Amino acid sequence: MNTYNVIIVGAGPAGIFAALELLAAKKNLKILLLEKGDDLPDRKPYDIFQGWGGAGTFSDGKLNLSTAVGGFLTDYIGEDALESLIDYVDKIFIKYGAPAELHGTDEEEIKRLEEVSARNGLKLVPFKIRHLGTDRCFSLLKNIREEITPPSPLFIKGGQGGVDIQFNCAAIEILKQGDKTVGLRTAEGREFLGDFIILAPGRSGSHWLSQESKKLGLSTGNNPVDIGVRVEVPASIMRPLTDVMHEAKLLFYSKRFDDLVRTFCMNPYGVVVKEKHKDFCTVNGHSFSTKKSNNTNFAILASTTFTEPFHEPIAYGQYIAKLVNLLGEGIIVQRLGDLLQGRRSTPERIKKGSVKPTLADATPGDLSFAIPYRYISDILEMLEALDKIAPGVYSTSTLLYGAEVKFYSMRLKLTNNLETEVKNLFAAGDGAGITRGIIHAAVSGVVAAREILKRAT
Ligand SMILES: Cc1cc2nc3c(=O)[nH]c(=O)nc-3n(C[C@H](O)[C@H](O)[C@H](O)COP(=O)(O)OP(=O)(O)OC[C@H]3O[C@@H](n4cnc5c(N)ncnc54)[C@H](O)[C@@H]3O)c2cc1C
Repeated sequence: MNTYNVIIVGAGPAGIFAALELLAAKKNLKILLLEKGDDLPDRKPYDIFQGWGGAGTFSDGKLNLSTAVGGFLTDYIGEDALESLIDYVDKIFIKYGAPAELHGTDEEEIKRLEEVSARNGLKLVPFKIRHLGTDRCFSLLKNIREEITPPSPLFIKGGQGGVDIQFNCAAIEILKQGDKTVGLRTAEGREFLGDFIILAPGRSGSHWLSQESKKLGLSTGNNPVDIGVRVEVPASIMRPLTDVMHEAKLLFYSKRFDDLVRTFCMNPYGVVVKEKHKDFCTVNGHSFSTKKSNNTNFAILASTTFTEPFHEPIAYGQYIAKLVNLLGEGIIVQRLGDLLQGRRSTPERIKKGSVKPTLADATPGDLSFAIPYRYISDILEMLEALDKIAPGVYSTSTLLYGAEVKFYSMRLKLTNNLETEVKNLFAAGDGAGITRGIIHAAVSGVVAAREILKRAT
């Protein structure tokens, strides 16, 4: 009989941490974890969004230990509870293989950086980071996968409980009876019944979640869309920042448009990578714990929250990414000097520069034909400000790759325990639009699981 106490959709950090929390309570619960992608050994590196570990598996594995970075959970559980849950999930990450080393702990240096940033119109957001690196992410997820499989100590000997993990199994319909959800139908037409459901489908499942939410009549709100470029410079240029914090989060309000512009996902000695979506591609960055390049890359993104009547921020971001792809037959790379002179980059001009691109598969071109003036202006202003604290950023050879777009899912209306407007139907992680990073996604899974544990008999 396909009946479970709890069904979880999605084996990303949110779904996995929910399952771990439910198991650790030793309540002998029967749990089903549905994942539309592959199990860990079968995952293909180019399929970055789906499979065991979700988008976290091939991510850079920066565990951002901050209430201010990684989502909106303070709106639901408050600052203090979030801080203690971040500490709780961090300890679990360490148990499964995260390194003990923490970046961003030198308070005196950070204070100095904060002051120099402030003098140049930049706000530094200090926080601590535990860096897994893409390679270590994989082994950590393997350890958790083994722990979640019998006969690990998390299972009660002879009990009916445990986690049944079904891979290549996409949930396509949430089944409801009266005012309660009762189960899920999968793409192959199988039906699973459950007392509680946690929806944790990540960004790759946010479109599905948004459609199902509409069907169920759930209230949603718009999240912003972030548009920008990935910047690549010699690693030495960023050392004033990366030696102190590994990743420096800086906020800036542009003078021309008063837009919020920020640095995001800084990868010291890392590589720029192509991020493949269904019918377009964007750019991203990685770094490894052992392999090092000579460059550092980071994103500069400007946030836009659209107002009435427009409510399709994801479609807007996709259009821009597709326009870049149309012109460049994929990713476009341009030297800052060429952008400033109003001309395209060519392979010869890129070769003349001092930064050797780490993404070989990018076409030298002109980003200003595809990225709206507003964003280009925001990015240039921020690069100029950054040059004051990391001299050399605003130089001719600096490489800009486009487009980098962050699609934040619509935000579901949830209670403080992350329950939707339908009883016993919970939502967690990036797909629900409430988190934007591994640590916060994991915390959200724990929050939903703890509420279920209170109710499950
Ligand atoms: C290239 C890259 C680098 C990143 N680097 C970092 C970083 O360094 N630090 C950081 O904190 N964050 C990083 N992130 C973001 C981080 O990976 C996500 O915030 C996090 O994985 C979100 O967790 P989640 O569980 O909500 O969703 P996901 O990790 O997206 O997992 C959701 C899972 O649900 C599955 N799913 C979707 N729909 C269905 C369905 N209908 N039925 C069954 N299964 C379904 C998906 O296949 C997926 O496996 C990065 C992301 C990317 C893409």
